[in-house]
Amino acid sequence: MANHLPTVAIVGRPNVGKSTLFNRIVGERISIVEDTPGVTRDRLYAKAEWLTRGFYLIDTGGIEDADTPFATQIKMQAEIAIDTADVIVFLTNGQEGITTDDEVVANMLYRSDKPIILAVNQIDDIHLKDNIYDFYSLGFGEPIAVSSIHGIGVGDLLDEVIHAIEQHQTLDYDDDTVCFAVIGRPNVGKSSLTNALLGEDRVIVSDIAGTTRDAIDTPFTYDKQKYVVIDTAGIRKRGKVYETIEKYSVLRAMAAVERSNVVLVVLDAADGIREQDKKIAGIAHEAGKAVVFVINKWDAIEKDEKTMLAFEEDIRDNFKYMSYAPIVYLSALTKKRIHTLFPLIRLAYDNHRRRVQTSVLNDILNDALVLTPPPLHNGRRLKVYYGSQVAIEPPTFVLFVNDKSLMHFSYQRYLENRIRESFDFEGTPIRILIREKE
Ligand code: GDP
Repeated sequence: MANHLPTVAIVGRPNVGKSTLFNRIVGERISIVEDTPGVTRDRLYAKAEWLTRGFYLIDTGGIEDADTPFATQIKMQAEIAIDTADVIVFLTNGQEGITTDDEVVANMLYRSDKPIILAVNQIDDIHLKDNIYDFYSLGFGEPIAVSSIHGIGVGDLLDEVIHAIEQHQTLDYDDDTVCFAVIGRPNVGKSSLTNALLGEDRVIVSDIAGTTRDAIDTPFTYDKQKYVVIDTAGIRKRGKVYETIEKYSVLRAMAAVERSNVVLVVLDAADGIREQDKKIAGIAHEAGKAVVFVINKWDAIEKDEKTMLAFEEDIRDNFKYMSYAPIVYLSALTKKRIHTLFPLIRLAYDNHRRRVQTSVLNDILNDALVLTPPPLHNGRRLKVYYGSQVAIEPPTFVLFVNDKSLMHFSYQRYLENRIRESFDFEGTPIRILIREKE
């Protein structure tokens, strides 16, 4: 199981101040790892922290769009919160009072057994405080007064959030369970692929009611290894068809990716690569997950001996920053080559958790430095004193140098390539951090 942080979702009718509260809590701490097709920049989903407890915060208001009817939007937002969050913050507006729209949201949230914290926004000064009492009638217990603009009460709200997280520890999978997510744009064949995998000969689907966190999780074993597949399309099985709204599917994909070790990025051979594919793949990459590209519908295209190579070139060209991800060409429909996926998932999982010996790492760095010394820059030369692996999932290395500004992108790329040539990191991104030695 990937180390996963709890998720907190902010829900509420439009214009109660969800984004303001989101920004207030998250501050500027949104991390963008690399300049990959921007998804984190949508500000729907970000890491936050309170009293040393980390969590993910979702602004479900981020998926609002003017073309979707209000009722549908609220439903989508409530559903995404109910499906993906560990704790829900239901935000209302204390200056406007309870509206029928608030009641619609409340009705949706009654169906959830997740902890719900009711917050009343825009209580900007003390004489407005009495306004919160009306909100008891929504039936979510004591409302918490906040002013997102001024930051008043936000600390109290977060205390409650952390308390609720601690009270409501969700059941996680064992540490040695391989969790993988199946992501991709609508109709590439995510559900078909999941079903094909689950239909494989040696797959035994676990049927332990109540242990899954989410209806889209399917735990199973294959060759004595425990797996959980997180199917982002699975929501449709419950009759929900919002997947075509792009931001909604992006949010779902982010939540699924966060909880997985390995991500299968599904592409449609018949359709080719689209802009949205890049955005979706970027989610996995930015999250630092292991990735396998699955080219589905391989049955549906005309092929000759050059087709596979041409496809591979196309993928490498479109997903330049993900050259580590292996590619498998298969058909969920005819089941051709489905069985080749399990070994790749396993490989990616193992490599994502690989730890290398410091002494071996430094031998490799030294050899690389001797073979191609760093170029001179304004008469000065980069020195790399030593390196050390500081983390797994993904493997992360720190290189201690004399002067960070002398480390150029291309030289860092060279060192990364040498590390990759020496150890098996197929399927996983690796990160290299540069530090100056005191
Ligand atoms: P999802 O939206 O990504 O979950 O896609 P679905 O699994 O619902 O598949 C979308 C459509 O593609 C359906 O009509 C499937 O029957 C079809 N499909 C899925 N996999 C394959 C495949 O390997 N080959 C062909 N020819 N069609 C497929």
